[in-house]
Amino acid sequence: MTRWRYAAATDTGLVRQNNQDAVYVDDHLAIVADGMGGHAAGDVAAMMTISSVREEFAMHPSVDGLFRAIEAANRDVLDDATQNPEHFGMGTTVIAIGLTEDAAGVATPTLVHVGDSRAYQLRDGALRRLSDDHSVAEEWVRMGRLTPEEAAVHPRRHQLTRGVGVEATIAVDVSSLEAIPGDRILLCSDGLSNELSDDTLAQLASAPRPLDEAVGDLISAAKLAGGRDNISAVLLEFLDVDVAATPIKRTISSAPAPVAARSSSSSFSRPRRRVTWRVWAVAAIFVGVAVGFVAIVHWYAYSTYYLANDAGTVAIYQGQPSGVLWYLMSQLTAPDARTISSNPSEPSITTALSVVSSMHHRWLQQRAVATTTTTTVTTTTVAGG
Ligand code: MG
Repeated sequence: MTRWRYAAATDTGLVRQNNQDAVYVDDHLAIVADGMGGHAAGDVAAMMTISSVREEFAMHPSVDGLFRAIEAANRDVLDDATQNPEHFGMGTTVIAIGLTEDAAGVATPTLVHVGDSRAYQLRDGALRRLSDDHSVAEEWVRMGRLTPEEAAVHPRRHQLTRGVGVEATIAVDVSSLEAIPGDRILLCSDGLSNELSDDTLAQLASAPRPLDEAVGDLISAAKLAGGRDNISAVLLEFLDVDVAATPIKRTISSAPAPVAARSSSSSFSRPRRRVTWRVWAVAAIFVGVAVGFVAIVHWYAYSTYYLANDAGTVAIYQGQPSGVLWYLMSQLTAPDARTISSNPSEPSITTALSVVSSMHHRWLQQRAVATTTTTTVTTTTVAGG
């Protein structure tokens, strides 16, 4: 049987206007979430994550259930940010320890973690870090590009590579805790770990004092050191502890949602884009310009009449003598030119133009090379003299 004592506290610090951290602890579950995002959205993400994790883990108190709880929090934060534009861009770290039951019903402590909030184990006054920061600088340390000392002052040490509410899928570090009675575990946000050295953390968190006083001392020391961020700490002390029969230590990633399921799932899908008045306005302007252009060309083409000698007959033509919408006979295919020579009749000017346009199109297809002049014969009107 695993049992722990606990204490927790969170503080706005001395610089920030509001507290975007959130903490929770009971007999089975301990959580620290460090929210981020503009306005008040960070604290929404942090509170929502704690609420989702609590709810899901209460129903499924297993290793898989704990991972699913983080997944559920990720979905909830993403959905909320989608539905509330003022929450756009919010997210949070999360680090939690749950007493997870195996198939035999034995409850052992399991750590889950996303982001740069941390877990430390304290035994005999010594401190051991249990979590890797998911930050650019720390990833580079693991890749050998930076030393830990360089990472500690690197400008990208606060830039997270993973977070809750950032993407539809999430990768969670999951590990079994190997603890013995008397061990303490400290979960904290970076507002604590950035302000205090490992030695100070070890000394204050291990102090043989009641847990709530130790937590109070940690918060006070972080504020004394500058308090530049929100500060949160949860301190656990194991009274009894079972160790997992098959310990786990790995990163578990959620599977990407299938496209079809995603489009029909309310949890992942973004709302369908609505056609707004702006879209209608742009469409109306586009159609207006097109209709206006056609009207101007049509007006210019048919606005005048001119006289001409048509094989010995005085003819009155409607249109521009220089041509605007005229095709040359040479721009027709041979069969179409023969058709024109037979003076086919059409019921209206519209159908006549359509026929000529089709003929010209066929000529273009046949020749594959466009000629530069495009003028249409509009020999519609007539009159003999
Ligand atoms: Mg922080």
